[in-house]
Amino acid sequence: MSAKPQQKKKPETPTHIGRVRATLLAWYDANARDLPWRRTRDPYAIWVSETMLQQTRVDTVIPYYTRFLEHFPDLASLARADLESVYTLWTGLGYYSRARNLHSAAQSVVADWGGALPDRAESLRELKGIGRYTAGALASIAFDREEPIVDGNVIRVLARLVGIREDVGESKVIGRFWSLASELVAGPRPGDLNQALMELGATVCTPRNPACEGCPLESPCVARAQGDPASLPIKKKRTPVRRVEATAAWIERRGRVLGVQRPEGGLLGGLWELPGGDLQPGETPEAGLRRCLAETLGLEVTGLETAGTVEHLFSHRRLRLHVFRVAESAGRVNRKGFEAHRWLAPSGLADLPHGGPTRKALALLGQASPRPHRARLRQTSSAQSE
Ligand code: SF4
Repeated sequence: MSAKPQQKKKPETPTHIGRVRATLLAWYDANARDLPWRRTRDPYAIWVSETMLQQTRVDTVIPYYTRFLEHFPDLASLARADLESVYTLWTGLGYYSRARNLHSAAQSVVADWGGALPDRAESLRELKGIGRYTAGALASIAFDREEPIVDGNVIRVLARLVGIREDVGESKVIGRFWSLASELVAGPRPGDLNQALMELGATVCTPRNPACEGCPLESPCVARAQGDPASLPIKKKRTPVRRVEATAAWIERRGRVLGVQRPEGGLLGGLWELPGGDLQPGETPEAGLRRCLAETLGLEVTGLETAGTVEHLFSHRRLRLHVFRVAESAGRVNRKGFEAHRWLAPSGLADLPHGGPTRKALALLGQASPRPHRARLRQTSSAQSE
């Protein structure tokens, strides 16, 4: 019988925390990617970048960030803007509540803080959409405060570096990461230290194939010594992805097409889309579309022609959207549950802020929505109320 490998008790805090800090900072100085938001100390620009980077890849964010700052170069210009133009610049980036909160928080900063972002994490957290992570990132990067950050990248690096083998889905375990990150950030250049941790997680200590050879933390890293870094961090429970079927209709009258705006809040809140709705269990797409249009808009439709289906994955929801062309619709629009509706020029919906499913549906219908970098900030001159 082979002997069990001896499990040595590992310290939770890196023994040589000062050395780990110095190593990380030296590595960051030599290896940090040149990203647009790293060329500025403007707290507003850093805030925009941190908001866009939530759940979104760096490569995706860069053109949005650049375009956003061209249109809204400072906090005051964002606070003055109407929400629709903010959404338009966000179209394609997803998680639209981020745009809504950023806009609302910019207005609060003008109203309550004289137009300058507060420089302390606890004050930043009073603003809409700024949680513990973003407050820590802003306070450390923009204001040089010793505030920790914990996100997926930081959790991965620290779990491996220290050898934490507990479920990161549990809040008490997450609390330990915050304590560790707080110890690590205390010292000179806290903003760079936080960025170094994130950068290492994004480029070296990656989820599946960490590049341990050549990693600056290879020597003190517990998971590397134990030979199984890719097994950390441990996530036991995954939120199951829910499948949802829904319908969308291209309804034309006298050369104009009906668009509807979703209510504020919730998934895709405030964005524009083709009318339709979720199917009920056992319902066919045709029957579901007829029911949804009758219930939410008071319209009776005939001559449904299938255009096809598109799929869209949200974080915990996989949407299958059945898209139809409607030959005839009867009745005056009597809206229930939508924020607004407009009869638009055929290209009008693509110019209004809309989400991924609508972008895909429009492409299916041969009404390609503009690429994010070409989206126009057009006020809805093509719109016409009924
Ligand atoms: S040695 Fe490997 S596992 Fe450890 S921090 Fe570096 S890349 Fe990650």
